[in-house]
Amino acid sequence: MAEHPRFESKMMIDGALVDGQAGTFSNVNPATEEVLGEVADASAADMHRAIDAARRAFDDTDWSVDHKFRQRCLVQLQQALEGEQEKLREELIAEAGCPRAITYGPQLDAPLSDALRFPGQLIDDYPWETSLGDAFVSVTGANTTRMVWREAVGVVGAIVPWNFPFEVTIHKIGQALATGNTVVLKPAPDTPFNATRLGRLIAENTDIPAGVVNVVTASDPLIGEELTLSPKVDMISFTGSTAVGKRIMEKGAATMKRLFLELGGKSATIVLEDADLGLGAMMGIAPCVHAGQGCANPTRLLLPRSRYAEGVAILQGIYEGVAPGDPQDPATLCGPVISAKQRSRIRGYIDKGIAEGAKLLVGGAEPPDGLDRGFFVKPTLFVDVDNSMTIAQEEIFGPVLAVIPYDDENHAVRIANDSVYGLAGNVMSGSLEHGLAVAKRLRAGFLGINGAAGYGADTPFGGYKASGVGRQNGTAGFDQYTEIKSVAFPAVSEARRRRAEAGPPNQAAG
Ligand code: NAD
Repeated sequence: MAEHPRFESKMMIDGALVDGQAGTFSNVNPATEEVLGEVADASAADMHRAIDAARRAFDDTDWSVDHKFRQRCLVQLQQALEGEQEKLREELIAEAGCPRAITYGPQLDAPLSDALRFPGQLIDDYPWETSLGDAFVSVTGANTTRMVWREAVGVVGAIVPWNFPFEVTIHKIGQALATGNTVVLKPAPDTPFNATRLGRLIAENTDIPAGVVNVVTASDPLIGEELTLSPKVDMISFTGSTAVGKRIMEKGAATMKRLFLELGGKSATIVLEDADLGLGAMMGIAPCVHAGQGCANPTRLLLPRSRYAEGVAILQGIYEGVAPGDPQDPATLCGPVISAKQRSRIRGYIDKGIAEGAKLLVGGAEPPDGLDRGFFVKPTLFVDVDNSMTIAQEEIFGPVLAVIPYDDENHAVRIANDSVYGLAGNVMSGSLEHGLAVAKRLRAGFLGINGAAGYGADTPFGGYKASGVGRQNGTAGFDQYTEIKSVAFPAVSEARRRRAEAGPPNQAAG
């Protein structure tokens, strides 16, 4: 019998677990429509207290320069999270409607294994200070020694969506804290409990100083916008929709925000002529996983005309075999979508697909049989889709696949790239070299060959085009949470130079 998690209702501001000035709001289980519990609802004043606390912790403590202390704190947080891993699992199944099987991978266990460890270890190896050596500067007529320092950006507003809430949060927190920033975390209103749990664990089980991490839950998305507007916040690290990402870019311009934006996608799988067709078609099941609520989900499947009928027949068999079901059941792949609003949005796309002339082969907009409660959508297979149709261009974020025929390889590449998005993609081929060659031609930030997925804390992840700006994870992600400071001073004797290159006293202490 699964352990029932005790949900944390309070937010965490300046080291204390607190109520919200706007009262509380309900967190609903999308599989049952039952209220799981109430959570603190922040007012704008609550958000500003959190921002002030983060600012103070950054400006008035040595958090940003004490590397060893930060490393210790990340280890403490890792242990605290591992201590409640099974409670977190139940919580994520309950509040995100995530199928249990997926919590053993990308929803929980995978990020928990490396999202704090990787940046924690990188603290030791990171080039915090690099010497450029001496140069003759004609203006002063003297030799100058130059150095480059990397420093934390400052206060980071971390804004998170509901589909992989813990995964996104822990990657943001890991990188932002390892680099010495302080954070105000704003979870999505649909999935607040994993974040309030994190807040409690930080307050009660780690030495992370008050104000370094604040967790602000709010039912009103515009409370999150206070982060974008505040001159006390240096950077926004946002994962969510492209529409909100654009708004953050626009609103953040006034205070010249540093931006890291992980946005939507409409990724394609290209099944090449030389591919194993069964394996290629299997990639078509991806939109059913977690009911298609994955940004990198390949929701367009491109089949060569020469093998189109055969591929469609395999896909039809696959889709007829997937039924949405209880996310608690370890055999479930396709759980509910997050809310009634999302469900009706997805159904609207299905209706539009039919209206624009795509052929509905499996599924549809009507409710699935036997599921009277919960926000379920039938796994839906559209074939004979033209890439100009709405269902091939817009992110549906539901269990809907668009199958598109292509004439030749150039045509396939053109279709795959004919999208405002550029987050991910897949190439299926009988030859690795061939697959890699086609992957090179695709305008997307993350490519898999023959179904391989390489997500992890050491791998940069992010989008081309409207899929975002910047990269999460890897050293590229780490870089993004730092500013670059170049320092020059008159060249000195060898002995003095070595002392100087050892860095300022506070950095050397780290
Ligand atoms: P969303 O953009 O509606 O909301 C994301 C977060 O932003 C939520 O916390 C929300 O409360 C907050 N928010 C909304 N308006 C805001 C504003 N004006 N200012 C500041 N914060 C605001 O997205 P969602 O519906 O929660 O999540 C689904 C989207 O996230 C999809 O488009 C999906 O592709 C994307 N996503 C992208 C990635 C990635 O890595 N590229 C990962 C997961 C999800």
